[in-house]
Amino acid sequence: YHLLVCAGTGCRASQSEAIVQALHEALEHHGLLSHVQVVRTGCFGFCEQGPVVKVMPDNTFYVQVSPLDAEELVAEHLVKGRRLRRLLYADPLTGHAIGDASDMAFYKKQIRVALRNCGFINPENINEYIARDGYAALARVLGELTPEDTIAIIKESGLRGRGGGGFPTGLKWELTRKAAGTQKFVVCNADEGDPGAFMDRSILEGDPHSVIEAMAINAYCTGASAGLVYIRAEYPLAIKRLRHALEQAREYGLLGENILNAGFNFDISIRYGAGAFVCGEETALIHSMEGGRGEPTVKPPFPSESGYQGMPTNVNNVETYANIPIIVLKGAQWFRGIGTPSSPGTKVFALAGKVNNVGLIEVPMGITLREVIFDIGGGIKDGKKFKAVQTGGPSGGCLTEKHLDVPIDYDNLLAAGSMMGSGGMIVMDEDDCMVAVAKFYLEFTVEESCGKCAPCRIGNKRLHEMLEKITSGHGVPEDLNRLRSLAQVIKDTSLCGLGQTSPNPVLSTLAHFEHEYQAHVNEGR
Ligand code: SF4
Repeated sequence: YHLLVCAGTGCRASQSEAIVQALHEALEHHGLLSHVQVVRTGCFGFCEQGPVVKVMPDNTFYVQVSPLDAEELVAEHLVKGRRLRRLLYADPLTGHAIGDASDMAFYKKQIRVALRNCGFINPENINEYIARDGYAALARVLGELTPEDTIAIIKESGLRGRGGGGFPTGLKWELTRKAAGTQKFVVCNADEGDPGAFMDRSILEGDPHSVIEAMAINAYCTGASAGLVYIRAEYPLAIKRLRHALEQAREYGLLGENILNAGFNFDISIRYGAGAFVCGEETALIHSMEGGRGEPTVKPPFPSESGYQGMPTNVNNVETYANIPIIVLKGAQWFRGIGTPSSPGTKVFALAGKVNNVGLIEVPMGITLREVIFDIGGGIKDGKKFKAVQTGGPSGGCLTEKHLDVPIDYDNLLAAGSMMGSGGMIVMDEDDCMVAVAKFYLEFTVEESCGKCAPCRIGNKRLHEMLEKITSGHGVPEDLNRLRSLAQVIKDTSLCGLGQTSPNPVLSTLAHFEHEYQAHVNEGR
């Protein structure tokens, strides 16, 4: 038996480390310590029900486990061979306890590609990664493929940047390869800043080697000799596991000089971000890594031509990299078999807000919002009515009931007035005031604007003041048009993506919930 205990940040905050200790004590008490392994894994995704313990090979999923349950769990499941019913997940519709994890609605529609190892392996043990074909893609690339062949696979797969922009990954790699420079760099953007989002953190906590392997593959393709991971300093566990993984990769000859005896040299170092949302923008990120202010600059030049230290630099985010090794191993056509023609593959979302099953999910592109919110998410909390869902983080847009059957992909979300963003998804119910929601998001962007350009620095403040005026009952009918016109100017004239998208919550709530703005104005509340 293997007892997999979630050791991601969420479950650790709910005592999962104490559960590991208690399980060890219970195993010792029953004389099973040498027969059963307790494995600390990355996040299982079902954070709502944590701390989670999974018993393998039975695939039994125990939820809301406490250290006090360890003795009974071992005695019942491992000694007597029967599942401990009181810790099984109960189906909210039928009330029946579900024994097998594959029968849980939360997982049925998920396909785990980027998260394939999270919740399965011990992220601090490179051998467990290798046992699941880890570093086989790097070996294949170095042994059998030219950089051009490898880039062709990534291009053919149709993988698009998962950080939000959706730019074709293979094309980005090709541009960096073709750019002239005495040295090139590979950068991993782990500056995840959307409120409520933890996709990248979970991948680095649960499967750091997948990112290291992908960065090495990228370096081989682009001709880079150095890699940098730019990660928020607020992610101590992800940093610890990443550092440990880097050391292990070096010990195994998978980083450093003459990797896999293929004459290829590459190593990775870590740079820490200080929590500025704008540093997720690639030019700001590069300036911050160079020791300058984290402010964006006009593109072109793009980082692929002139990035870190003025050299060609490939920047992808964590989730994008996590897809690379499995695409190289399973092929572009396999990847294209998942998702939609314009957005192949899967997307990881942090599902939060007024939904029953809060957590981290990975779904095929093309799935509908209805399936995500009602099937995987288990519907709205306390039997309330669904009102809206914000996709794309603080600068995405609010979508409504009429969008529930829109297949999720980059283009459809944009057409619906929102965007994919990096994967934040926050659900609102009938009690939420959409004007207050727009104001909440705008507060965040006002706080996070770097202040370099006037439309974003001043315009967003004025937008926020107008929302304050309206929600405090002092709005006048003309304010709605003023909001619209200022929001459009900010979108059209801001320098970087932060400012260009910051009015989206205002514009989308005005488009779909104008009556709520009018109610504030008319009723003076
Ligand atoms: Fe800075 Fe905002 Fe201008 Fe971007 S749009 S450069 S965040 S002030």
